[in-house]
Amino acid sequence: MSIPQASVWRERAANLRPEGRAFINGQYVQARSGKTFPTINPATGQTIAQIAECDAEDVDLAVKSARQAFESGVWSRRAPAERKAVMLRFAELILAHREELALLESLDVGKPITNAYNGDIVSAATCIQWYGEAIDKLYGETAPAAPDVTTMIVREPIGVVAAVVPWNYPLSMASWKLGPALAAGNSVVLKPAEQSPLTAIRIAALACEAGLPAGVLNVLPGFGETAGRALGLHMDVDGVGFTGSTAVGKLFMQYSGQSNIKRVGLECGGKSPHIVLDDCPDLDAAARAVAAGIFGNSGQVCNAGSRLIVQASIRDALLDKVAAIAKDLVPGDPLDPATRMGAIVSQSQYESVLSYIDAGRADGASVIAGGRAANRDSGGYFIEPTVFDGVRNDMRIAREEIFGPVLSAITVNTPEEAIAIANDTIYGLAAAVWTSNVTRVQQMSRALKAGVVWVNCFDRGTMSSPFGGFKQSGFGRDKSMHAFDKYMDWKAIWIAG
Ligand code: NAD
Repeated sequence: MSIPQASVWRERAANLRPEGRAFINGQYVQARSGKTFPTINPATGQTIAQIAECDAEDVDLAVKSARQAFESGVWSRRAPAERKAVMLRFAELILAHREELALLESLDVGKPITNAYNGDIVSAATCIQWYGEAIDKLYGETAPAAPDVTTMIVREPIGVVAAVVPWNYPLSMASWKLGPALAAGNSVVLKPAEQSPLTAIRIAALACEAGLPAGVLNVLPGFGETAGRALGLHMDVDGVGFTGSTAVGKLFMQYSGQSNIKRVGLECGGKSPHIVLDDCPDLDAAARAVAAGIFGNSGQVCNAGSRLIVQASIRDALLDKVAAIAKDLVPGDPLDPATRMGAIVSQSQYESVLSYIDAGRADGASVIAGGRAANRDSGGYFIEPTVFDGVRNDMRIAREEIFGPVLSAITVNTPEEAIAIANDTIYGLAAAVWTSNVTRVQQMSRALKAGVVWVNCFDRGTMSSPFGGFKQSGFGRDKSMHAFDKYMDWKAIWIAG
């Protein structure tokens, strides 16, 4: 399917009146307080829509509705094959509304429409479809216990799940929670990030249209400190699937301890090392991967390869290539299908990224590409793809997650040094290494402390492979059959006689 032209998207955007209300018990409703907040288009700084500002009172209503639906069995005790049919229909409806959802995502986040259309929306539908198809293939166990008993070990949904997600891939991240949580039979309260609530609100109606009973999926837009916190502390929420920053992930652990020891799955931040050694099989391919790995989605990617660790003998050759790609990548209007790099999600994120660029300069690293704000007359928040050379791993731009298009290049002499620096971080989400040496592949892929390791590639993924972190990048896995572990419990049933 070919993507509509820029003029079509702009006209649709001008006429758009998106739904901004919460979705509770099968209906769109305002927040009980009547409060709203604006959601902003970061490419223009203009308000797109007013959004219901849900707080603890709305959380209570949504959790009650989710609990009622769960205990009634209307979804939780449906045959897996029946749940599968609804999930597959839900995925079809997401795809059927691909243009509408891509426009909402592009406007809300400032990401290129082409990426939203070909990436985010399709990957969300694929995820819902994958878990729909998986759920009637998930078996329990029998235990070799004793001759007079049958011991069945069955998997059960945990109950009411809160899904709390970030703004960088709003629909895609939501689908990573909704897919396994709903397929397993849970009821879900989804809280999108305050910067990007539009697609989550919209798909609630699509889920209902697909046949998901009222109360099984509720969507509560609102702020983290109010709606998010109330979900984390709620005594009747059984589990939280969280994706976001490490700082807020730690808060969810505290909320759990302060309330009902709800289980928590955390997909948090990263500072992924992208290692290129002097026996790299293809330096052009590595340069393209390094650039895509930090400039894709304007660097607002949890597993962004934000630390380039390069061996000294190939440093100049590689950095010349990466800098050339960066200079060629001009941030532009996200609604133009030719645009490959969009905006930064919000003014505060924009200011934060620019302050890291200042910190890099102040710490003595040198900018070899970018380094400035772009498109200032747009009213939006754009930053040039930026490459720092001469970075030491103790500098702030090497230690902290910038979450913007800023690459920090660190030069090393040996593979051993590369591993030591790669692992010298609080994070452990992803890592990559480029080498032709099979022994190094074996050793380094084992030695890298990260939940995902790519060799001679970067950012590859499918639904069938798990995604998640080591160390302060969190625990638990999204995607693949492993994601069911977060949303299901094991029960041992002993039947005598
Ligand atoms: P964030 O932690 O600020 O917010 C994430 C979610 O938590 C939002 O819905 C927000 O409203 C909520 N929240 C914020 N403060 C809260 C509080 N005090 N109590 C309860 N809830 C609260 O993160 P962000 O800025 O939206 O997203 C960027 C972060 O997400 C980055 O650190 C990035 O690495 C991470 N991320 C991780 C993955 C992954 O799979 N590991 C994927 C995408 C993004």
